[in-house]
Amino acid sequence: MSLKKVSTLIGLTLCTIFSSQITAQTHIIHAGKVLSVPGQAPLTKQTIVIKDGIITSVKSGFISVNKIDEQAQLIDLSKSFVMPGLMDMHVHLKGELGPKNDSEKLRMSDADTLVKSAYFAQKTLLAGFTTVRDLGGSPEQSYALRDGIAKGYLQGPRIIAAGSNVAVTGGHGDVDGMNPALLEMHTAKTVCDGPYDCRRATRHAIKFGADVIKITSTGGVLSDTDTGTGQQMADDELREVIDTAHALGRKVASHAHAAAGINAALRAGVDSIEHGSYANEESIKLFKKTGAYLVPTLMAGDTVVALAKNTNFMSPAISAKAIRVGGDMIENFKRSYKAGVKIAYGTDSGVSKHGENAREAVLMFNAGMKAQDILKSATVNAADLIGKSESLGTLETGKIADIIAMDNSPLNDMKALLDIDFVMKSGVVVKHK
Ligand SMILES: [Zn+2]
Repeated sequence: MSLKKVSTLIGLTLCTIFSSQITAQTHIIHAGKVLSVPGQAPLTKQTIVIKDGIITSVKSGFISVNKIDEQAQLIDLSKSFVMPGLMDMHVHLKGELGPKNDSEKLRMSDADTLVKSAYFAQKTLLAGFTTVRDLGGSPEQSYALRDGIAKGYLQGPRIIAAGSNVAVTGGHGDVDGMNPALLEMHTAKTVCDGPYDCRRATRHAIKFGADVIKITSTGGVLSDTDTGTGQQMADDELREVIDTAHALGRKVASHAHAAAGINAALRAGVDSIEHGSYANEESIKLFKKTGAYLVPTLMAGDTVVALAKNTNFMSPAISAKAIRVGGDMIENFKRSYKAGVKIAYGTDSGVSKHGENAREAVLMFNAGMKAQDILKSATVNAADLIGKSESLGTLETGKIADIIAMDNSPLNDMKALLDIDFVMKSGVVVKHK
């Protein structure tokens, strides 16, 4: 690409970001097919009116601009499938799993990592994901990225950020696999032991900017230790963290593989279980009783199995867990879905590559989830999980204008989600090809 083209592109991007945020503009979308409320049937030939980033009406037929607002800008999506922006409830924008992770930890400054995470955030948005939960990373980087995007300095999805995990010493979510001096240096202030200390850790996370609390009730695949995937946070620690978070108005997401850890977190009142790999009958009962969501992250399982089989950068401890857990994840997801557990969409991108978040939908579909349920999990259900149903998740009057479009209906072929042509976030067009 020529230098002139690059500078024009940069100019255009800046114009799109800044002009739209400074001037109050009305957009009118002519939409061929619209999934206004995922879970319900799509509508044909609709006119969506957007003022100051908010949907002010969705009406039948293609209404001409003159009849609404002569100054408005018409966006022709009359041949497209239009739906609410997708929401990914589990990403890690700080990086991507790969053979260079160890050396990058030594070479890259915090500023380098932040710039890279901004790039990943942009990729995520351009793939049609307008809201994400960033579940575990450096608090300063994650909050700076969230706030920079919210102010319009950077292009990216709306971020609900957890900062560092509230995790127990030596458990998943604590640092591992480094020399002792580095371990000391990198231990987060949210690592805790015992209920009182975990109460402190939760308050600490919220004080410095956490929108949601991420805990790790069981071991994890990517911890370089032989500590397994069983329960790691004790029942009293779980109760204390969750009560403290709820008292301060924050929801709690728990990473959990083994049934004992899933069930303990559910009994303690957790809002979502991430992965849920070994959910058993008791887990399903508890999910239904508490109304907690399962965030399946099938992509994480898919990715680690492939990496364990086809590369050699993983340690023996990680590789063994990857093959076992990754393989079991899908079967357990099928059982939970069939039993009627509420599902919210999440990929664990950062384990998989950023910008490929829609592949999760294809994996869910191949595992037997109905297309309309998948789209609902990534919109209506996700909005409910983050407590933002009044502003996000559907294309209805009064909602924030997070809108995407593609050529074909994902209700007919889930792969349509892999090719997003149009992305609007908060009424700002960030992609239209
Ligand atoms: Zn994760």
